[in-house]
Amino acid sequence: AKSAGRNQIAFFEGNMQTEVEHRLTLERDLAKALEQNELQMVMQAQVNYAGVAVGAELLMRWHSKERGMVSPAIFISLAEESGLIVKLGDWVLSEACNILKSLQLEGHHFPLSINVSPKQFRQKDFVDKVTATLAAQEISGKNLIFEVTEGLFIDNLQETIARMSKLSALGIRFSIDDFGTGYSSLNYLKRLPLYELKIDKSFVQDIPGDANGTAIVGSILSMAKQFGLKVVAEGVETEEQANYLIANDCDSMQGFLYSRPTAPDVWMANQIQVKAQ
Ligand code: C2E
Ligand code: CA
Ligand code: CA
Ligand code: CA
Repeated sequence: AKSAGRNQIAFFEGNMQTEVEHRLTLERDLAKALEQNELQMVMQAQVNYAGVAVGAELLMRWHSKERGMVSPAIFISLAEESGLIVKLGDWVLSEACNILKSLQLEGHHFPLSINVSPKQFRQKDFVDKVTATLAAQEISGKNLIFEVTEGLFIDNLQETIARMSKLSALGIRFSIDDFGTGYSSLNYLKRLPLYELKIDKSFVQDIPGDANGTAIVGSILSMAKQFGLKVVAEGVETEEQANYLIANDCDSMQGFLYSRPTAPDVWMANQIQVKAQ
């Protein structure tokens, strides 16, 4: 029994070793992915009650030559831990401006939403970088929505508000992503310059069968209305979900029911007309 126990310990240590090695090589490959053009942004439509696209979210994809598609759930969290997310985030911002330019040339005039991670937002020169990127591509901040998570509001709220105000002055709007899944209090809602709340797909997927989940979605919608905030529901997959959201005045819907995340050139080539359900 004693030796079996010892083997077990060795087994776990061996596992942890490969785990660490695996992370390090993944991190190294991700750092090279940008230079090797393995990263790409895809677009997912946000549609209104009539099925008309009123916006789109840009999502990052890593198509590794060696590994194939790597899930954002894996590489984004790795990039957040290692700090690489700052460099990736800079790239996303300039890609977003490029894509906006092409969209506008094709006659699509709606804002693009990008995910901004707390580390990226907290860089000292973030506002300057955003200003410079917009200027370089002659894009107005009015066309950009920054999706941030509640984690951003946990510390240094004063500083965060000041920075958000500077970005708001450029026309940039703020959306709280994964709303309701974080740990922060609702107190910040009245203090921040916010435009929109995004209902996380974990809540949307409970509509209409699960009473608690449906109640959460209903509460978010009515609270947003009282605060004068727009609401986007993410992860909308069924007509039942869409019907409930529309009946309860949700401003826009995003999900596989309407569109898969698609390469921007395909988006534009097909002039995707999202149909009313
Ligand atoms: P998120 O911001 O909450 O994005 C929504 C996720 O839901 C995306 O996953 C999207 O592909 C997926 N989705 C969209 N519609 C549906 C649906 O109808 N059903 C289901 N089940 N899922 C749907 P994705 O693309 O794998 O991204 C995962 C997370 O990675 C994102 O969650 C976001 O937090 C992060 N992420 C992705 N791109 C970026 C980026 O450019 N920068 C940063 N900082 N984070 C990113
Ligand atoms: Ca998002
Ligand atoms: Ca989410
Ligand atoms: Ca998220």
